[in-house]
Amino acid sequence: MSAKNWPSPPIERGLIVHCANETLRPMTIFEKIIARQIPAKIIWEDDDAIAFHDVDPQAPVHVLIVPKKVVPRLTDATDDDRALLGKLLLVARDLAKELALSSGYRVVINCGPDAGESVPHLHVHLLGKRALAWPPG
Ligand code: AMP
Repeated sequence: MSAKNWPSPPIERGLIVHCANETLRPMTIFEKIIARQIPAKIIWEDDDAIAFHDVDPQAPVHVLIVPKKVVPRLTDATDDDRALLGKLLLVARDLAKELALSSGYRVVINCGPDAGESVPHLHVHLLGKRALAWPPG
């Protein structure tokens, strides 16, 4: 069955989305959070991105900053994403200030299996309120 002939109900329910190449794929967990299909502790949002607390925090503060545009991972970003990528870091800076991470914080992007990426939707981790070891495991 071609993508165009796929019955519409799953798409209307927002469970499946069209990709640019006309194939279908399930929504990622982050797309579902953006669409308010599943709950999250959202702390900031604008038209381009959203930030919410990680469900499995690795530090007393562990926030994810997620672009609303679906870019699976940094490898897939293009020159057109330059401003968006810069914005994610500036949001991390602003949230670090808002969350009083005055003694330091870490900003992490896991890209691909060796880095432990588990959600294929680009996101920036903001971790703080504890001393973080280096090098990472
Ligand atoms: P990564 O391993 O870099 O792909 O990071 C994915 C992060 O998403 C992990 O730290 C997960 O704990 C987090 N995560 C997964 N599902 C949820 C969710 N429903 N709400 C908040 N964070 C989530």
